[in-house]
Amino acid sequence: MSDEKTLTGQCLCGAVKLTIKGAPLRMAQCHCKDCQRASGGGHMALAFFKSDDVTIAGETKGYGVTADSGNTNTRHFCPGCGSRVFGENSARAGIVGIPVGAIDQSGWFEPQAIVYAKDRAAWDKTSTDIPNFDTMPPPPPASK
Ligand SMILES: [Zn+2]
Ligand SMILES: [Zn+2]
Repeated sequence: MSDEKTLTGQCLCGAVKLTIKGAPLRMAQCHCKDCQRASGGGHMALAFFKSDDVTIAGETKGYGVTADSGNTNTRHFCPGCGSRVFGENSARAGIVGIPVGAIDQSGWFEPQAIVYAKDRAAWDKTSTDIPNFDTMPPPPPASK
């Protein structure tokens, strides 16, 4: 009926599995210090989907931090291997951010923006041909 592709993903140990239907709403790379610590790399590459389009199987644990906006940003991970599998923000109900490296098929990923560019390390090159924001830009208008 639909020609939408189904994406699959998993954590490092395979105890948590992701199934994603539907296209990403937004794609971005985030250089904030929290993402650097959580990922152990220079940035996180994230694709945001409607939560209704994402199925997560397996147990996860969440760790929430208060973002600059005052909202709670919770990063969920596999308790067995520690891989990040999804994130959610208290200000954006119904949307989950998936770390693109957890997805098996990621050739479609094309970041639309770089956020927290102020925290970008000199050794971690990301595109300056797309909008770069020093912090988090205001969210797009809610579709109410
Ligand atoms: Zn795991
Ligand atoms: Zn970040």
